[in-house]
Amino acid sequence: MTSPASDGHYSIELPLSCPLLINGEEGPATGGREFHRENPADTRQVATVAAQGSAEDARAAIDAARRAFAGNAGNWLNNYKLREQTLFQTARLMRENADRLAQVVSLEVGMPMRQAAPHVAAAADIFEFYAGLAGKIYGESFTLPNGSMINLVKEPVGVVGLITPWNFPLTQTARKVAPALAAGCTIVLKPASYTPAAAYELVKLIQQTGLPAGVLNLVPGPGTVVGAELIGSKAVDKLSFTGETGTGKMIAAQAATEVKRISLELGGKAPYLIFDDADVEGAARAAVFGMFRNAGQACGATTRLLLQEGIHDRVLERVAQLTRNIEVGHPAAAATDLGPLISASQERVVQEYIQFGLDAGLDLVAGGNKLRGGGFDYGYYVEPTIFDRVDNNSRLGQEEIFGPVVAVTTFKDEAEAVELANAVEFGLVAGVWSADYPRAMRVARRIRAGTVWIWDNYAQPVEGIWGGYKQSGIGRELGYYGLEDFLEVKQIFTDGTGLTSKPPYGQVIKE
Ligand code: NAD
Repeated sequence: MTSPASDGHYSIELPLSCPLLINGEEGPATGGREFHRENPADTRQVATVAAQGSAEDARAAIDAARRAFAGNAGNWLNNYKLREQTLFQTARLMRENADRLAQVVSLEVGMPMRQAAPHVAAAADIFEFYAGLAGKIYGESFTLPNGSMINLVKEPVGVVGLITPWNFPLTQTARKVAPALAAGCTIVLKPASYTPAAAYELVKLIQQTGLPAGVLNLVPGPGTVVGAELIGSKAVDKLSFTGETGTGKMIAAQAATEVKRISLELGGKAPYLIFDDADVEGAARAAVFGMFRNAGQACGATTRLLLQEGIHDRVLERVAQLTRNIEVGHPAAAATDLGPLISASQERVVQEYIQFGLDAGLDLVAGGNKLRGGGFDYGYYVEPTIFDRVDNNSRLGQEEIFGPVVAVTTFKDEAEAVELANAVEFGLVAGVWSADYPRAMRVARRIRAGTVWIWDNYAQPVEGIWGGYKQSGIGRELGYYGLEDFLEVKQIFTDGTGLTSKPPYGQVIKE
């Protein structure tokens, strides 16, 4: 059974803040407008008071980024050593301030501290990785038979607009900001309105490294105002967005009118396939980790557990046991495994999906309730919930829930497993567990997703990649691919013949 909420306490002073940062200057929004972020674990408390940026503020930030790029502020574009040092020092400062950062994330997201601490470490790793790449952006050259030379040089794409989600605020921001800085871009960052302080705390540390003014600008505020300005502005060369597939489609349509470069990291409906020959304990633990990390509010969360008929009962029994042992509580408490959901509206959505499962008469294996009483009454707490015998074509099998609700479906054989895994509009991640490695590899190759884990779940090394097939997105973050996302390739052609009249010129010029 889930335990009652234990008391939680953060040592940081509240409320947190998030001003604008434009051209190196912190300040309020135009007209002094602000918005409040409540603590999702205790809605009586204001977690953050943030400046509410306007369209005018967004334009000022874009101008600052444009000027910094055009003027090569502080030799930013050429001096990769400066960019390398900025990124290394950011990683160091993040580690020095790890406890504070973890508390800020835990507070705004409702993420248990046990998950917030490794989240900070993962974000610092991303800065370190791209620090190492900042001075290794090599081009290519090729000499033609006539001695002419092709030089392919890689250049920063320019001013980039970065729009981020709330669920893993530091890593999501790091995956964009770190490679953009490594490449030599200048930035306007619009953080999610649920997590403005997490973004500001990170930006503040980056600023401390001595970044030239205008290279990194921060404008919190509504997506429809600040985000829209970034999408529509001709002065923004590229937009990198992480969020819902619906928002991503709208952004892609608008960006197309300017042929703006875009990268989209969107929703998921990840399957985890467990075959009859699997190690029950290993597979069950991997699945539960993916199901309920950050209360299932994860684009790569395991939301569909696909079990082969012969192992269904044994895996499900163990998964249910592990799920019942999950401690739901205040995210600041050291023992908490699962905290509150992000908001009242997300709690409503999750409860609607649970009601759908109950109305459909599905087997409720675990959970199913909103938690009440004591500290639970002030936060958005829902039990980790599992339904068995779910039709993959139903809403529970098809739609991204973004909460702790998992659909279990059985399959007969390998062909059906692959068919079910692929029978959704998303293609972000998937998992496979089979003792038969050639089969696991075969299945992994046939699943249309950006990442497939074999014998693991939700591993995201910075050296790898992250990104989706199908409606889960366009482009890849992390690794070298994540850097390329912020680079243009230019060809410089140099004649090597020394001839004043070259054979093709004869097509136009008669001797
Ligand atoms: P969201 O789409 O509501 O918001 C994301 C960001 O876009 C926020 O900063 C928001 O203010 C902004 N925004 C909203 N409407 C906008 C508009 N009309 N124009 C411009 N900007 C706008 O998503 P969310 O609720 O913050 O995040 C959850 C979603 O993100 C889930 O669907 C999840 O799967 C997805 N996600 C994907 C990945 C990935 O790597 N693929 C990672 C994390 C989250």
